[in-house]
Parts: sequence; structure tokens; C-alpha cells
Amino acid sequence: MLRFSPILIALVIGYVTYLFSARKSKRDLSRNSTPLQDKALNKLLSQMAEALDIPRVKVMVYEIEMVNGLAAPDGRIFITRGLLNKYISGEISSAELASVVAHELGHIALGHSRRRLIDFGGQNLMRALLMSVFGRYLPIIGGYIANAIIQMMAASLSRKDEYEADAYGAALLLKSGIGLSAQISMFRKLESWGKAGGGAPAWLLSHPETALRIAEIEKLKANWEI
Ligand SMILES: [Zn+2]
Repeated sequence: MLRFSPILIALVIGYVTYLFSARKSKRDLSRNSTPLQDKALNKLLSQMAEALDIPRVKVMVYEIEMVNGLAAPDGRIFITRGLLNKYISGEISSAELASVVAHELGHIALGHSRRRLIDFGGQNLMRALLMSVFGRYLPIIGGYIANAIIQMMAASLSRKDEYEADAYGAALLLKSGIGLSAQISMFRKLESWGKAGGGAPAWLLSHPETALRIAEIEKLKANWEI
């Protein structure tokens, strides 16, 4: 029983930390966001709502400068002020902005944000187990190895989520009559801003390589848009 207690402690600490950070980010999101009001975009959002057979797709604007879209675990969709500014200045079209919303809708519909809670608990358990195994034979460096393995696992999980959300977004954009070209051109723009600014926009950092994602959408496009 005693042998398992470090694992239990790691799990409890991990879970409590998660709950605190989830509550804090939820509060922060609510305080610093307002519903998106834009005529052209609203038209596209209602096309998507109709395709999904739901009353409406609600999008909130989160007041931060970085260029990003996000799906909260409670099912709300946010785009950042930085991303909206690109639309207001004419750098991206309403269809391109709608493609980000379609991708975030995918994360929600596919249960990715809720599943992350389970991943998190699972990751802590795995870390504790690996640490106890590696730590026994390789003091100090064993911990680094355990962490690296967990990080690789988490990264491949989130990459999988991104491809799934892209495919969901593509299907939704096609069904709602917006089309897949906007999704592809949005990726190209995100990539070019990353290159120009010296670093990738925040939205890209948590996402797989753009060229690969575009290739996947091109494949879907070839199959669907006969
Ligand atoms: Zn995503």
C-alpha cells in the first residue's frame, strides 16, 4: 500500500492543480470576452448552425492580442481580439474566420476538451509509474526520460485531435456552403504571419505542421468536391 502512495499523491496534486487552473481560466475567459457581433460573419455562422441543425453558433471575442481560436471545456467558442483585428483590417475574409470557428466546433463536437481532463489524469499516473521505474535505475536522468516520454505522448495525442478537428471543420464548411478553400487559405496566412513575425502565431504552436494539415484538407477536398 505504501509503495503506491507517491502515485496517489501525484494524481491528487495533478488533479487539484488542473481544477484550479481550469477554474481560473474559465473566470478569466468570461471576464474578458464579449459576444461577437458582425453582420457578414453572423450570416456564415447561421449557415453553419443550419447545417448542424442547431439554433445558432455563438462565438465570443476574447480580449487578448495574440492570434488564436479556442474551444473551452464548457463548449464555448472564443476567437481572440488579435484574430478579429485581422478580419477588421481586411487581412482575412469572413469565410477564413469562419473556418477557425468550424475547427473549434470540431474540438467541442468530438469531445476533445473534455477528454483532456482524462488525458491529464492519465498522464500523471504514467509519469509517476515511469519515474519510479526509471528513477530506480537511472537517478536524476530517469526523471528527464520519463518526462520526455510523457511529453511525446501528449504531443501526438493533441496532433491527432487537430487533424480530427480539421476534418470536422472541412465537412462543416462544405455542408454549410462556405467551402474548403477558405480553410486552406487561412492556414497559408497563419503560416506567413508566423514567418514574418519571427515566431509562429500562438494558434500554430499547439498545432501540427501547416503543410501537412493543408495536404490532408486537399485530400478531403478532392474526395468530396467532385
Ligand atoms: Zn485545434
